Amino acid sequence: MSRIGFIGVGNMGGPMARNLLKAQEQVHAFDVSPAALKPVGEAGGRIAATALDAVKDADIVVTMLPAGSHVRSVYLEDTSILTAAKKDALLIDCSTIDIDSARAVHTAAEKVGFDFLDAPVSGGVGGAEAGTLAFMCGGSEKAFARAKPVLEKMGKRIVHAGGPGAGQAAKICNNMLLAISMIGTCEAFVLGEKLGLEPQKLFDIMSAASGQCWSLTTYCPVPGPVPTAPSNRNYQGGFATNLMLKDLKLSQAASQGAGAATPLGAETTQLYALFAAQGEGATDFSGIIKMLRGE
Ligand code: NAD
Repeated sequence: MSRIGFIGVGNMGGPMARNLLKAQEQVHAFDVSPAALKPVGEAGGRIAATALDAVKDADIVVTMLPAGSHVRSVYLEDTSILTAAKKDALLIDCSTIDIDSARAVHTAAEKVGFDFLDAPVSGGVGGAEAGTLAFMCGGSEKAFARAKPVLEKMGKRIVHAGGPGAGQAAKICNNMLLAISMIGTCEAFVLGEKLGLEPQKLFDIMSAASGQCWSLTTYCPVPGPVPTAPSNRNYQGGFATNLMLKDLKLSQAASQGAGAATPLGAETTQLYALFAAQGEGATDFSGIIKMLRGE
């Protein structure tokens, strides 16, 4: 049994921490929101009064926070994880954040001798609850080898993407592609509708032809062909537009920093910003078909 300090037990971190408890790990949780801590306490976790309290005797520290600024603050400020954790503790950040922040924490952690891994996830709240998340990891072979057994208690697919920041890089490349493919899928259905095609017929053809992709066959933006897709629930649940927009903005900041041309990524970011500005931020990202239809 390891002692795990878990900081940030919101929509994702909460069920992840509970899966660690189910796997007989000892969890000391901290969150600035008492409401977020409650279900972890009820599942047998210890509630820490401060972040430092949660990490001070931990063998492993896991953070699951909203953005880079939060991650920098808990790792890098004066009284932070890097000053409070045991010297041989393994540090894993599962938040989705900008690559610069991830690398800054890597550098600071390595400087004082910690193994640190950036390990953002895909799979959403459903995957966090079911323990089927995919983890994309960046860091040394040693940090990855140490982290894999604990990540396996929260996920199904644990991949070592490369060195520091590589987990974040893989995550934003994937989500930029996902957003582009969703817009393309929506445009194909909107054009098909205008040309008088039945959506089900068009689905049957495209899903068995070269237009086949995850946005079509798993999150089909028209209701009917894929009964489990959010389109059948008026685009509720699923992957919120605001979260997709966050990842797209990270992809565009990274592409500017790296000098990569991502014109479709840029256009897609603008389209999702427009959709969110229409009050659709909480809507599943496949709901953008409504905007493309002019509704
Ligand atoms: P959330 O807002 O539900 O949870 C974040 C938690 O962090 C909150 O409970 C908040 O109170 C806490 N927090 C903020 N600052 C803190 C601090 N300084 N110390 C302690 N706790 C603090 O967000 P979420 O949906 O759980 O997402 C967490 C991360 O996972 C994000 O980076 C997000 O992009 C990523 N992610 C989310 C999803 C999803 O479907 N929700 C999917 C993949 C990845």
